[in-house]
Amino acid sequence: MGSLIVANEQAIGAVDIGGTKIAAGIVDANGCLLAYRETPTTAQEGFGAAMDRIHAMLNDAVGSAKVELCGIGIGCTGPVDPRTGAIGEVEFLPGWKDCNPVQHLAALFHLRVAMENDADAAALAEAEWGAGRNKQSLICVMVGTGIGAGVVLDGSLYRGAAGSHPEIGHHVIDCSGPKCFCGAKGCWEVLARGPAMVERMRNRIPRGDPKQGTLTAKAICDLARTGDAVAMGEVECEGTYLGIGVANLVTLFAPEVIVLGGNVMLSADLFMPTIKAIVRRNCGLVDSEATTITSTSLGSGGPVIGAAAVWRRSFQGARAP
Ligand SMILES: [Zn+2]
Repeated sequence: MGSLIVANEQAIGAVDIGGTKIAAGIVDANGCLLAYRETPTTAQEGFGAAMDRIHAMLNDAVGSAKVELCGIGIGCTGPVDPRTGAIGEVEFLPGWKDCNPVQHLAALFHLRVAMENDADAAALAEAEWGAGRNKQSLICVMVGTGIGAGVVLDGSLYRGAAGSHPEIGHHVIDCSGPKCFCGAKGCWEVLARGPAMVERMRNRIPRGDPKQGTLTAKAICDLARTGDAVAMGEVECEGTYLGIGVANLVTLFAPEVIVLGGNVMLSADLFMPTIKAIVRRNCGLVDSEATTITSTSLGSGGPVIGAAAVWRRSFQGARAP
């Protein structure tokens, strides 16, 4: 009986709350995903309904992985307050402001619960189990519906004034660019997120073209692989915006590692040559060769693995596997 509890000590419940879907899983001490469940967020049904589904998914995952949880980590689309566990004013979670998933899940499961912004969670996963293992400085950039980034400096998650999460995704790339909800024009997110690719591609192909109906960042990348000149042009454009942003991070932080993840980066091989060429061109004053630029190795389970890393960092400290 005692050995069973010891064996399960490292099974962490992990929850990733996004605007589109909520994923829940079980992650072991090596960052391996033992079970995975997901559900649409349907934020408009309310916070309580979402917590009920998380409760059910985690219980189901615990049953299938045959483990006992030691705690629960959460990565949540932000802004969130990691100190209190409260959700802030989040565009994709209307009506959830001041709701507290940390307190809610702690009361349901009688376990310790920790939460971070989802980009910070991803950065912690890379630091713990991914490309940032045994490194002191790492920036993890997630490129999907938006652009989120987490910064690990001297082995710890960097926080700004009053515990704030720096919004690297909203630094300005082109001050004559389109307006973003953040207030800036031409910030990185508004130019390089997946929907920006779709919008540009829509403007490049004729209105009646059947491709108009099925455009996604992935579809554009697939089309580029077939040699479609317009799609290849868009991939080059996206790679350029990504490259300028990454080069700015190399110049500003000169980190040991920059890891790129998120849905758009599922096609990282198409963008990496452009990104690296721009870094070489733009970063003349730092040793850019010393910065490793790579795509995530944690796979599609990365955000859930990130949530588990949040719990580990909060309650177990950084530990080399
Ligand atoms: Zn912005």
